[in-house]
Amino acid sequence: MNVLVVNCGSSSLKYQLINMENESVIAKGLVERIGIDGSNIVQKVPGKDDYKIEKPLKDHVEAATLMFSTLTDSTHGAVKSLDEISAIGHRVLHGGMKFTESVLVDDKVKDVIKECFDLGPLHNPANLMGIEACEKNAPGKKNVAVFDTTFGMSMEEKAYLYAIPYEYFEKYSIRRYGFHGTSHMFVSRETIKFGNLKPDAKVIVCHLGNGASISASIGGKCVDTSMGLTPLEGLVMGTRSGDLDPAIVQYISHKENKNVDEVLNILNKKSGLLGLSGISSDCRDISKKLAEKDPGAVRTYNVMLYRIAKYIGAYMVALAGCDAISFTAGIGENDIAIRKAVCDYLSFLGVKIDDERNNIRGEARLISTDDSKIKVFLMPTNEELMIARETLRLAK
Ligand code: AMP
Repeated sequence: MNVLVVNCGSSSLKYQLINMENESVIAKGLVERIGIDGSNIVQKVPGKDDYKIEKPLKDHVEAATLMFSTLTDSTHGAVKSLDEISAIGHRVLHGGMKFTESVLVDDKVKDVIKECFDLGPLHNPANLMGIEACEKNAPGKKNVAVFDTTFGMSMEEKAYLYAIPYEYFEKYSIRRYGFHGTSHMFVSRETIKFGNLKPDAKVIVCHLGNGASISASIGGKCVDTSMGLTPLEGLVMGTRSGDLDPAIVQYISHKENKNVDEVLNILNKKSGLLGLSGISSDCRDISKKLAEKDPGAVRTYNVMLYRIAKYIGAYMVALAGCDAISFTAGIGENDIAIRKAVCDYLSFLGVKIDDERNNIRGEARLISTDDSKIKVFLMPTNEELMIARETLRLAK
């Protein structure tokens, strides 16, 4: 059984075709510049040369048509016909409070995705376009929506409520949702499997990429997670500030003569590693400058690490213990020094990193010493595979 995983952005469509018998990727591709000049698709099929076509694509329906014809291309494709694709899984950012699980798409589900446009204005419209484009191009196939927010739906009220007038929760569903949910779900479950931990193990996952978030879970069920109503809350990210005093918005607005939207744009796009360092939003650039003791790099590194460690500490309390900590995403999977530096904060708890084991990138591995009080893992994330597993489960 092959499952197609689709992840649509406003002008892009990313896809993977996964053989669920052995969970191997049999094709993956990216359609870019949908609706703008220079639309193109690049597809990679193991054992074949990369295949690129440039062709005007006015919308996501045309992009999906091109995806399906490229997947079934007799020379460059991966399958002979659409019959070899059993179901389609879609990444959808926001499911609001309606969905506590992934779901088979029907008209009601599409209405809820629409109702959540306000909560995910950049992603939900594109995600819905992707679903409708697949429905048009491959009629009769089961489509499954896998929401980034469902992982956070198991949080208790005490973790998801903000201490603002309760009517705003009642009227507008203002609460903490959490994002990167598919990644946290995958990594927390894989950590338990890979580490041979008890089924109800308490796991803290540090998803450290350009966007960054952290979660606390028991047996793969979320207890708390750092992103909030939007992905702005929590850790220091590439360009997002993470946690701050909300009064700062008003203060900057007055001092710089900007409106709320403009200040929010600064907090989302010009803050974090980029804003604090004045160097770059890319952690590798900060690390390079750190070696030269650049003051911008030093302060950024310190604030970022301290915030991660502080959250881990808080989440140990939320979980009343911790069996394992896993690092994932671009920084978590690749930055040996950052994994070590975060864990150094935890040494008073008996967390010990084994430098030899930690000298690795992008591969699942135990990186703590045998006598470490808490196990620490490098655990690569795989959101596409998680979506494919959910799709298979629901489409069967
Ligand atoms: P992601 O959003 O998961 O793709 O992660 C992007 C972040 O990962 C950027 O800040 C990159 O600097 C960082 N990153 C990617 N590769 C490496 C690497 N080899 N070493 C250190 N950081 C990396």
